Amino acid sequence: MDNRVHNFNPGPAALPLPVLEEIQAEMLNFKGSGMSILEISHRSEAFDEVLNDAVARVKRLLKLPDNYRVLFLQGGASSQFFQVPMNLLGPDDEADYINTGTWSTKAFKEAQILGCNVREVASSEDRNFCYIPKDIQFTPGAAYVHLTSNNTIKGTQWLTFPDTGGLPLISDMSSDIMSRPMDVTPFGLIYAGAQKNLGPSGVTLVIIREDMLERVPDNLPSMLSYKSHADKNSTYNTPPCFGIYVVQMTLKWIEDTVEDGLEGMARVNERKASLIYDLMDEGDFYRPTADKDNRSLMNVTFRLPDEELEKKFVAQALENGLSGLKGHRSVGGCRASIYNAVSLEAVKSLAAFMKDFAQANG
Ligand SMILES: *Cc1c(COP(=O)(O)O)cnc(C)c1O
Repeated sequence: MDNRVHNFNPGPAALPLPVLEEIQAEMLNFKGSGMSILEISHRSEAFDEVLNDAVARVKRLLKLPDNYRVLFLQGGASSQFFQVPMNLLGPDDEADYINTGTWSTKAFKEAQILGCNVREVASSEDRNFCYIPKDIQFTPGAAYVHLTSNNTIKGTQWLTFPDTGGLPLISDMSSDIMSRPMDVTPFGLIYAGAQKNLGPSGVTLVIIREDMLERVPDNLPSMLSYKSHADKNSTYNTPPCFGIYVVQMTLKWIEDTVEDGLEGMARVNERKASLIYDLMDEGDFYRPTADKDNRSLMNVTFRLPDEELEKKFVAQALENGLSGLKGHRSVGGCRASIYNAVSLEAVKSLAAFMKDFAQANG
């Protein structure tokens, strides 16, 4: 379709075009039901298939062992900031938090609001969150260690995860879930708002290990308890049906079109990111904001020589069909979000534009 732009939005973000086309094709009559997916019962067989297929694809793609459960919840990743400690942190427990930017700061604050015993064991705030902390001392016996695997706003990413000496890791993977293969076994829980790498906003993927489920107290409101959702396969109440359907199709798109699943996805993502980073490193017009070893493959954050040029860059990019390159309002500068659904071709167009822009304005 030639009236579509290359979409570098941070979230909600690009979805694969074949997924959008399939949604359109199925909209009026979902799988012969004579109704759209928006109108069918969440207790119907047709929806059950969608939900179970989505769960199965998450398990396959991430190679989840049998003791992990896959849930689709509402309330965004932001609700996980309080749901995690509410469910997993008893009154006598402590938990460790690593602060690598806006979202992990929020996660920590929400646990504090609940009066939980949480410790910030490492932070990269001293240099405006441009790196990932190393050599972290964890609290012996901590109930979990929370981190944000990809820092959407600051443009850093954990390329490998810290050795916690067996303490369960919990990660907000909203902006890099399914972008690369990973060993899930150190993780007690993984959560991700869908609107970056999985689908639309309104549905949150939660992957929880069964021993974590056993920690959930009985005195939680049902909607806030992982247990009620796990016991009912995410249909304790009406789930976000449309969102789950789009997630299912996005995962199907990975499995059907990307060779080697997440290994292949990671190769494409590395290629995309290095197109932009290499171009920036070759000159001195663009300045990547994250330390070289900790750069995100999903959110490329950078500055230009001055703010006027940054404005001009974003505006001219848009005139050239490249949308969504403005940095987060809290940090300024520019950001190219190059999630799974952003094609290599889109990134090549961006790289070509960046070269031209630097030449004309450098
Ligand atoms: C976008 C984002 C969030 C916020 O997600 P909501 O679904 O809007 O609550 C949280 N964490 C990270 C890492 C994000 O990128």
